[in-house]
Formats: sequence, structure tokens, C-alpha cells
Amino acid sequence: MKVAVLGAGTMGGGIAQVSAMTGHEVTLRDIEDAYVDRGIETIADTLEEGVERGKVTPENREGALERIAGTTDLDAIEGSELVIEAVPEEMALKKETVAAAERVTDGAVIASNTSSSLTEIAGALDDPSRAIGLHFFNPVHLMDLVEVVVAERTAEATVEFAAEFIEGIGKETVVINDTPGFATSRLGVAIGVEAIRMVEQGVASPRAIDRAMELGYNHPMGPLELTDLVGLDVRLDILEGLREELGERFRPPQLLKRKVRAGKLGKKTGEGFYYWEDGERTDISDGKTDK
Ligand code: NAD
Repeated sequence: MKVAVLGAGTMGGGIAQVSAMTGHEVTLRDIEDAYVDRGIETIADTLEEGVERGKVTPENREGALERIAGTTDLDAIEGSELVIEAVPEEMALKKETVAAAERVTDGAVIASNTSSSLTEIAGALDDPSRAIGLHFFNPVHLMDLVEVVVAERTAEATVEFAAEFIEGIGKETVVINDTPGFATSRLGVAIGVEAIRMVEQGVASPRAIDRAMELGYNHPMGPLELTDLVGLDVRLDILEGLREELGERFRPPQLLKRKVRAGKLGKKTGEGFYYWEDGERTDISDGKTDK
């Protein structure tokens, strides 16, 4: 199938990669050549790692790269049956992006990787029955789940088409009605925010809280380390959105706000609830972990 991915960043690149690996012809569009190139380089690096680890064959890597055409020209997505937008989480930009994609394609299903309101994005389309949310997880090539998000006016045929595509790229779907935080962010953030409050209240160190969830609930990673990976700023934004929609139980803790103001955004800045060096959490004792 001809698939268009709009946005060659973290998510768009990952979506393009898994789509191309399963035989789809992908047009990967970003707004500047440098962003397109960076996206494709990242995909090439990830595939190379896959080859080194024996998870991807050299033929599959070559095939996938050949099936991805990078571009800055929106007209290049013409003829796509499926468009997946993964541009930054700004409502005006999302609306403009899906409306432009609808104009260029003819009857394509228009999917959004939004973590926010699909129904509002769908409202920008002439035909909102073709809008759907495909909420992928990072890193896309490793994460099995895609939440299929259904807006007010999404047609049943659109849900079926999208679910079939997702299963075809080897992922699992859960169908969720468009509500704030869907299923995963809402629950994930609820645990994360409580963990931050526990640090704030001196219940235990970040490491102890994380280990409790890793060992007590078999979570692969504790909620604070996960917050460091996602980015404290990202979590703060999500919390503010959920608080607006769902109430005070999602009020961002002061500790989170302070860290974000101080630029302690997690792994990407080298410090969040943990310290990070060369992309790895450093083995800092509980006592030294910043509070
Ligand atoms: P990102 O910043 O890494 O990438 C966004 C890309 O979109 C950038 O390269 C940017 O240049 C490009 N872009 C901007 N305007 C564009 C346009 N008009 N057309 C095409 N490309 C354009 O962002 P990301 O982390 O990949 O997030 C993308 C979307 O995915 C957001 O809606 C985000 O909420 C959602 N999401 C992110 C994650 C995550 O873990 N990063 C997880 C699930 C969902």
C-alpha cells in the first residue's frame, strides 16, 4: 500500500520504518530537507543496529530503505491510501496538516498519531468519517501496541481499515474512544504523577519507588525512570492537558514543575529523577539522587 507519513521526527521516522519493513511504499514528508535527511539517517541507523543484533536481515534493511522516499513536497503524497501525521503536538498545526493532506489525496484514510484530541483534529477534514487515531509508542519498532482511537464521526470502515493495517505491520491494536489520555497515557500518567508526589513527600527515594513497581508489579521500568525517558517537560504538558479535562487528580506536582523550569528534563538533558550519561542511567546511589 502507498502510505504517507507526515513528520520525520521520533514517531514519524519509526512509523515509516515499520511500514516500509512490512512492504509498504512510504512517502516520508517533513518541512525541511535537513529534517527529512535526519529522519532517514535515524531509520538507517536503527535498521543497522537491527542487523547487528540479528533481528533484521540485510535484505530487509535494504528493501525497507528503498521503499522510503523522503520529501518536503506535500504533493508527493498524492495517491496514498493511508496518511499518518506525526507532526508536533500543536492543534493548529495538526488541523492544517490533516486538511492539506485530505486535499492532496483522494479518499485516503487520514490517521493522526496525536496524544491529544482526535475529534478536534478530525473536525478540520471535509470528511471526518475518514479520520482515525493511530497512537504508536516510542520506540515504534520495539513497541507492540497501537491504540486505535475512534472519534465521534469515524466510520466503522475506517476503523477496520486502520486495524487491518496495524495488524499487517505486526502490531497489536486496542480500540479506544477518543477521550483525554486514551487508555495508556491516562493510566501511565496517573501512576507517574503519584510516584512524583511520593518523592515530594519523602515516602522513598526515586530508585526505591521504581524498584517497588518493577519487582512488585513486574513493570519493566519504574514510573520515575520512565518519566526521565519520556521527558519531564512532555509529562508536564500531558498532565496539564489531563488536569484541564479530567480534574485536579492530574494537577502537576511542584517538584515536576521545578525540575522542568531548571531544565532537568530527564535522559535528554542528562538529569531528571536520575542522572544520565551517554544515554545510560548512571549508577547513582539513592542518597545522591536529586530530589
Ligand atoms: P518530533 O518533534 O520528533 O517530530 C515532529 C516532526 O514533524 C519534526 O521533524 C518537524 O520538523 C515535523 N513537522 C513540523 N511541521 C510539519 C508539517 N507541516 N509537515 C510535515 N512535518 C512537519 O515529534 P514526535 O515525538 O515524533 O511527535 C509527533 C507526534 O507524535 C506528536 O503528536 C506527539 O504527541 C505524538 N506522540 C509522540 C510520542 C513520543 O514518545 N515521542 C508517543 C506517542 C505519540
